[in-house]
Amino acid sequence: MAEKLIIVGSGPAAWTAAIYAARAALNPLVFEGAISEENARAGKLPLGQLALTTEVENFPGFPKGDLSGYLRTALPPEIVAGLPADGTHGITGPALMELMRQQAKNFGTRVITEDIVGVDFRRHPFLLFASDGKSYEALAVIIATGARANYLGLPSEERFRNQGVSACAVCDGALPRFRNRPLAVIGGGDSAVEEATYLTNFASKVYLVHRRDKLRASRILADRALQHPKIQILWNRVVEEILGNDTDGVTGVRLASTVGEPPLELEVAGVFLAIGHTPNTDFLQGQVELTEKGYIRWVVPFRTYTSVDGVFAAGDVADDRYRQAVTAAATGCMAALDAERWLTEKGWH
Ligand code: NAP
Repeated sequence: MAEKLIIVGSGPAAWTAAIYAARAALNPLVFEGAISEENARAGKLPLGQLALTTEVENFPGFPKGDLSGYLRTALPPEIVAGLPADGTHGITGPALMELMRQQAKNFGTRVITEDIVGVDFRRHPFLLFASDGKSYEALAVIIATGARANYLGLPSEERFRNQGVSACAVCDGALPRFRNRPLAVIGGGDSAVEEATYLTNFASKVYLVHRRDKLRASRILADRALQHPKIQILWNRVVEEILGNDTDGVTGVRLASTVGEPPLELEVAGVFLAIGHTPNTDFLQGQVELTEKGYIRWVVPFRTYTSVDGVFAAGDVADDRYRQAVTAAATGCMAALDAERWLTEKGWH
């Protein structure tokens, strides 16, 4: 028999959709993604981008404080063991995702730790193909597979991820390790100048490293960066190596020149990549309409409807603008409500 609702993904959008759908008695089935080397390398492991970050200071309801009593009772011991030891931390990304996952399971959500690798949305019930070789039918589907930040692909970048290398200034910029220290942002688009400007709130100085001699960013944002006293733009430069050690994490960055200048070494406590994101839509194989940038298109303003009736999208897979845990969770909630109403209208719920 077909499932009423399958949710694909395991970040804040997917778990929030599952919490709402389970409470609405839709008995949702979540495909949270497979645990594999390939997914780890691609930044696509279960629990999404939040599982790749450290402290989360901006998710409402989780101020900095001694959360350990609560977390000890609400989380599995292996997650508690990974929490910072000082006892007065805020919530961490992995802990927040485990809490949401547990909350969804408490309401009866079923979870399969496999990827969805293909879909057939041209028939109904929809058909979804999982990485374990099985296929599943669903009356409605919520896609919440997120996006992954692009990285340069350097081994040193991999080594210092979460130890000074980040792809999200809003997530990580305010962490103590970056306070009053020089930082580098890589990229020349809107994200890069926005992140550089944001980081000036914490950093002693921000180097904006761009591979060309002209910013791609919109005029207004670019001007702000060009005129900011704390931002220094380094033109025609690319990252050759991120420097650091196991104790301090990132301590510097070595830049090559694209115009034949000698290499340049900067002392920085952090390297922020802002070279774009890639939405996780490969498995859709053109069966849902995407935007020019490859994100799922929401076809009705302020609804989570996609081009396929009965298929809804939530979170970063459809949002290249806000990309926050709280906005992903919000659209996850909206997708569950949209799916519930749609199923009711069809007489299937
Ligand atoms: P983007 O516009 O694609 O810019 C990516 C930047 O990274 C470009 O400057 C690119 O250089 C550089 N880059 C790409 N690959 C690189 C590599 N391997 N090594 C070094 N540099 C590399 O991405 P985005 O800035 O994330 O923006 C994405 C979209 O969101 C855009 O449409 C943007 O307008 C929008 N956005 C808007 C706002 C806002 O309005 N407030 C804020 C953020 C994002 P080149 O320039 O040489 O290609």
